[in-house]
Amino acid sequence: MISVSMLSGYLYCPRKVFLQYVLKLQEPPKESLVLGTVRHHCYDAINKSEEHIVRSIQKGSVFEDIQTIYKREHLRILREAVANNQESIVSVRLHPEEVFLRNLTYIMFESRQRATHLHHFIKKNDVFGDELWNILTPKVISELKVESQLLGVRGIIDQIEVHPDKKIPIELKTGTAPREGVWPGHKIQVSAYGLLMEEHFQESVEEGFVTYLDVNDRRKVPFNIFLKEEIKDLIHTVNRLIESKKVPPILTERAKCKSCGLRDQCYNEDHINALVKELRDYNEELEKFSAPNFV
Ligand code: SF4
Repeated sequence: MISVSMLSGYLYCPRKVFLQYVLKLQEPPKESLVLGTVRHHCYDAINKSEEHIVRSIQKGSVFEDIQTIYKREHLRILREAVANNQESIVSVRLHPEEVFLRNLTYIMFESRQRATHLHHFIKKNDVFGDELWNILTPKVISELKVESQLLGVRGIIDQIEVHPDKKIPIELKTGTAPREGVWPGHKIQVSAYGLLMEEHFQESVEEGFVTYLDVNDRRKVPFNIFLKEEIKDLIHTVNRLIESKKVPPILTERAKCKSCGLRDQCYNEDHINALVKELRDYNEELEKFSAPNFV
């Protein structure tokens, strides 16, 4: 079974998918990946802390009280995420304090947004504590693992917003955002999650969003039948690539290769051919041993 990230990876470079998932080559850790991981951990923990925060809001709380509770909790989460990722932070030559400060603005922005949303909800419904949590919408499911035997794909959805009448997948992304819309790989990713959710929850999913954290912009991806068919075709294509044992060529758009951590190995054709031969020989041996007449 393939993963959803392999689909967007394929759109970026089929050869890279082959090198990573068939030849098992690993990219060295990158600064952007480490920063992305810390931020993902924060947002996951923030979603998981939401119930506790909302239930703790008492009658008479004003906006400033609510914001203080969010800020205190989210700061604790950020400190913890930095501490838990200290090893990988140092491995890409970053300082933990620098990572803390680089994330602080986004996390404080998140605290303010959540406090504002909750404050408006309280003003409208005049409820607090447990009752507030019970009727609050939308609620968010974080980091849900989903897989489909039927589609042959699995993945972990960053966030699912649960509204009374629908569920919406949200993909969180660090790094640059396109001028408008979303990057093609991100569109494929969030749409694939939509398909997986339809099977998982047995209900139709009509749209998803990609949130570009660095610019704090949430962009809509409407799903339609053509997009869903495109995803199914792509799943089939990637599965065929994995089974084929044929290395795709080096990209002609060399600009993409500049930031690729596998470039040195990828451009060394002798090295790649030797790895493919090794894999083929290994598979042939394996087949001999598993043949029914082997004694
Ligand atoms: S160096 Fe270029 S062609 Fe090679 S795997 Fe990376 S992106 Fe693909």
